[in-house]
Amino acid sequence: MKIASDYSYKYNNLSFLGYKEAKTYANCTRFYNRFINKHLYNCNLNKLEGIQEGLKTFEGMSMKQIAFALTDLHSINMIRGCINHCVHCYANAQPFISRAPFESFKQIMDDILSLKKRIGINPVSHRGQKYVDCYFDSDGIDMHLFDKDGKKHDAIELGKLIHESTGMKAVFDTNGWDRNDKERQQIAEDYVQKLLDDKNSKHFYQINISLNPFNPKYVRALKDGYKPEKYSPYIKVRLDKPNIVTKDAKLQKAENDYREYIKNEANTLFTFTPLLLEGKLGTIIRGLDKSITNMDGCYLEDYSITLSNILGQLQLEYQLDLAGEQKIIKNKKMLDKAINGYLKLFNRNTDFLFSSGRMEKFYKTKHQGSLEGIDKIDESREKTENNYRKLINTEKLSSMDLAMLKMINSDGKVFMYDNYSIIPTDIKLNTGNKELKRPFWAEVKNFVVTTDMIDRI
Ligand code: SF4
Repeated sequence: MKIASDYSYKYNNLSFLGYKEAKTYANCTRFYNRFINKHLYNCNLNKLEGIQEGLKTFEGMSMKQIAFALTDLHSINMIRGCINHCVHCYANAQPFISRAPFESFKQIMDDILSLKKRIGINPVSHRGQKYVDCYFDSDGIDMHLFDKDGKKHDAIELGKLIHESTGMKAVFDTNGWDRNDKERQQIAEDYVQKLLDDKNSKHFYQINISLNPFNPKYVRALKDGYKPEKYSPYIKVRLDKPNIVTKDAKLQKAENDYREYIKNEANTLFTFTPLLLEGKLGTIIRGLDKSITNMDGCYLEDYSITLSNILGQLQLEYQLDLAGEQKIIKNKKMLDKAINGYLKLFNRNTDFLFSSGRMEKFYKTKHQGSLEGIDKIDESREKTENNYRKLINTEKLSSMDLAMLKMINSDGKVFMYDNYSIIPTDIKLNTGNKELKRPFWAEVKNFVVTTDMIDRI
């Protein structure tokens, strides 16, 4: 007798039938998949075994392994390194930037797209996150790759590739750059012009500027005793002896650091103003919650003084632009619209923060080696640690209560990730790139999720 849910064909338990039969099966189910299965992990992967034949990226991988790697995909990490060195960096990013060849990224994207065409559904799917990145520990301003002929492929092109092949949009997120860094300034200006065009911006889920009290210049200035409430965008000089430094050297340096920080952030906001005026820009404002003690200057409410200093500096930059070149600000109405636009964005902020341990190290240096007072920095860490403990105790992925994201490194190795833990697996895509000696700067767990465990899902 047929039970109510048993409306599908009866399949053999295991097939591994090869490309020809998988192709026949895929041809039969392609239409049906779109409406019923929707996700690769819902499909009969045994029946589909072999459909990946000829796609270099998936050589040597079973369909189960492919489905595992591409479900809840967080990022395909083709760019590594970041020069910003933020104190709170979730990835413990180091300032050595390296990039995989563009060709290997293109190959992965093309093969995902080919697999999608063969099966009829997108093999990349997500049960939460709405985007896919092409880096983990970098800044958006460095989001570009070079091909073997040295040709540059920028964030717009990479975002388009991600969107068109994975069906998920990319994200452009920058913590800003030094305004005297001509190369990054030019990159930012080019991106703003390109992203004004909907045909480019449609590939991005968000375009964000991150502002927070964890920039090294800001942190140094406050540590050396600078008081943000004293800031003015206008430099005060002694009229009798204009170039004489009137403060002690340490305080003077602190003021210079703070001024540099404010000017860099104001310059970033200035550069992205055209996108703000078109409603295409967001900001991510992050600070610490008061439950973390002894971190003056890093709390959201402390940082609000600095946010108004940044706005004050920005207003001055706008006025200078309006009175001079009119590169961005053409009239007073535009100036007001931009300031009000940023004011509105600044109202959205968060004290949710996850840390790779760099923040704790910083805390220790401020508090004579003690971590007391920072134990509440990320309450969800405990939950994820429990999740991880369940995995290592049972060696079963099904024992975990919380879903984990996936990251694929440039050498093809697949990792599980949940904002805290990075767990290696023995699954590997074939990218043709050499093995990374150190896959992440953040800690990687020493427990490996094996293909056996994945087969048992
Ligand atoms: S938080 Fe982002 S911008 Fe800051 S160091 Fe880390 S990767 Fe770079």
